[in-house]
Amino acid sequence: MNFHIITLFPESFDSYINSSIIGRAISDKKIKVKFYNPRDFTKDKHRRVDQKPYGGGPGMVLEAESVIKAIEKAITHPQSLSYNKRGKSDKKLIIWLSPTGKQFNNSYAEKVSKKYTDIIIICGRYEGIDERVRKIFKAEQISIGPYVLTGGELPAMVILDTVARRIPGVLGKIESVEENRISSSQVYTRPEILVYKNKKYRVPKILISGHHKKIEEWKSKKK
Ligand code: SAH
Repeated sequence: MNFHIITLFPESFDSYINSSIIGRAISDKKIKVKFYNPRDFTKDKHRRVDQKPYGGGPGMVLEAESVIKAIEKAITHPQSLSYNKRGKSDKKLIIWLSPTGKQFNNSYAEKVSKKYTDIIIICGRYEGIDERVRKIFKAEQISIGPYVLTGGELPAMVILDTVARRIPGVLGKIESVEENRISSSQVYTRPEILVYKNKKYRVPKILISGHHKKIEEWKSKKK
């Protein structure tokens, strides 16, 4: 699975995607992450890509042209997309991040991880990107939740992480995806008795009973 991220701030992804499970998925070549910065495609000599909005209002808007060129670069990258006979990739998804888009969730992530080989994620900044870009590429509007962030970089990382952990081989056996095992939202590890400010906090007895069936029942109840 290839993730193509259109962003003004590619460096903001570095520490997250290079750590832990996602970092391992990249070094094991289970996923690839590529960045395309609209600033690299602007004609402006100061590399400016934001402009005042038509109709007035607060903030700045990302201009269409440099974002279009960055997206074009992502979708015409010969090594990155799996092309069909007509030279078009029908396994690519273009996501337009927006606080008013369709709510992202586990079942959407599941569908995406099964159906596509390339996901292009367009991160807005400031007041957003010129709407005509979304129209041109027929991008799907996705929100990660009912709140407004300063940019699409965190949402892109949320989507990348959620989709990537569903790709076979990304999670180890022990860390496997929730639906395929009995997991619990409440988890415990050593020590069995934790002492904090003179008070003892015990692990639920059932978990140390060795009674596998009862433990599984307990875990399913805690879901
Ligand atoms: N003026 C816009 C908000 C822009 S926020 C409005 O009123 O809707 C700047 C950018 O951050 C957006 O273009 C989008 O890419 C990203 N963003 C902010 N909140 C988001 C959310 N909840 N989900 C997905 N993307 C979000």
